[in-house]
Amino acid sequence: MADCEMCGVGSSKLSDAIIEGTLMKVCKKCGGFGDVIGVEPRSIRYEKPIQKVPRQIFVEDSVLFVIEGAGKIVKDAREKRDLKQSQFASMIGIKESMIHKIETSMMKPDLSTAKKIEKILDVKIVDGYDDPEKGVELNLNDGDLTVGDLIKFKKD
Ligand SMILES: [Zn+2]
Repeated sequence: MADCEMCGVGSSKLSDAIIEGTLMKVCKKCGGFGDVIGVEPRSIRYEKPIQKVPRQIFVEDSVLFVIEGAGKIVKDAREKRDLKQSQFASMIGIKESMIHKIETSMMKPDLSTAKKIEKILDVKIVDGYDDPEKGVELNLNDGDLTVGDLIKFKKD
C-alpha cells in the first residue's frame, strides 16, 4: 500500500506515470493525466555466442579384442577335451574350416565367436575393457583410430 504521489490516495495499484516530465507513482485515476509506463520488467536478452561444436565421437568404454596367440590356446584347450575340430565347430556353430584357420592363427574369431569359445573351452582369449557404465569422449583429430589408440585414450 502506497500513496499516490499526485493526489495522496492510498492505493495498492499505483502505476508509474510521467506527468509534466516527472516520473511519479500515481493511482489509476491520476494516471490519466500523464503517460503511464508499462510495468513489465525489462528483459535483457543475452545473445548466446555461437559455439563451435568440436568433432567428437563417443566411445563406449568397452574395447574388446581377441588376444594374440588365441589360436594356440584354443587348439590346446580343444585337444585337452578330446574334441575334434568338427565337433568343436558344431558346438560353436561355425564351419570346421574356420576352426582350422583360428587355431593356426590365420584368422581371429569375431568377438561373439570368441566368447562362445571361451565358454565352451573355459579359456580366456578376449581381452580389453568392458565397462559400459563409463564412456570416453574422444576428439578426433586425424585419421582412423585403432584399438591401440582407443586404449591409449581410455580414461583411468
Ligand atoms: Zn491519484
